[in-house]
Amino acid sequence: MRRKFVAGNWKMHGSMVENAALLNAVIAGMSQLNNVDCAVCVPYPYLAQAQNMLTGSNIMWGAQDVHQLEKGAYTGEVSAEMLKDFGCRYAIVGHSERRAIYGESNLIVAGKFAAAQNAKLVPILCVGETLDDREAGHTESVVAAQLDIVIEMCGVHALRNCVLAYEPVWAIGTGKTASPEQAQAVHAFIRNRVAGHDASVAERLIIQYGGSVKPSNAVELFSMPDIDGGLIGGAALVAEDFLAICRAG
Ligand code: PGA
Repeated sequence: MRRKFVAGNWKMHGSMVENAALLNAVIAGMSQLNNVDCAVCVPYPYLAQAQNMLTGSNIMWGAQDVHQLEKGAYTGEVSAEMLKDFGCRYAIVGHSERRAIYGESNLIVAGKFAAAQNAKLVPILCVGETLDDREAGHTESVVAAQLDIVIEMCGVHALRNCVLAYEPVWAIGTGKTASPEQAQAVHAFIRNRVAGHDASVAERLIIQYGGSVKPSNAVELFSMPDIDGGLIGGAALVAEDFLAICRAG
């Protein structure tokens, strides 16, 4: 049995004061819950705050991106080792906003995945199609290309220590959620593709759904057989919504 995993992606939101209130409420709520794994992925400047507040709680923390190289003259970048220094367990790689706004290719994302694992972080690898891809019938080929390059670079066994997040781009921040059936179909496609390499890796792989998950749709989504939790954007900034989604896990 795979355990459900709900992670918040705060994106570029927060302040010391707002985060303290949000994290205190999430810590209190999560202390009553043991059905689900929970993490928050915070902006880099707040990693120290997350580490201070969450150490000893049942909530893990991570970053929203990582550079693919270990160190060097890369002004503004943050390495996986640095994240590890702050007690991070997770780093999101390949979020669609990074792919679309910052031009991160599948190859760059695979490099980030490898860098995170080399530093003993657990990458949360985001994959997903745009609305144009879906309407052209390319959902599976787009998702397959995003996944295959990681398997080629790191080997299928690397998927033992990672989380996948299927996030249809057209559902992110739009209020439009994929229906449970639409999401399940892509989750099953991903799991089958991994099973083509190694059935036991596929069976254990946590595949989150992301894209306008809310308290009102989380139960239905998480009850699908291949949906193992969620990567939550907007609703992760409101403690009661985030906790309600965790309770759906
Ligand atoms: P959303 O974002 O929940 O606000 O749609 C999800 C994500 O981008 O990870």
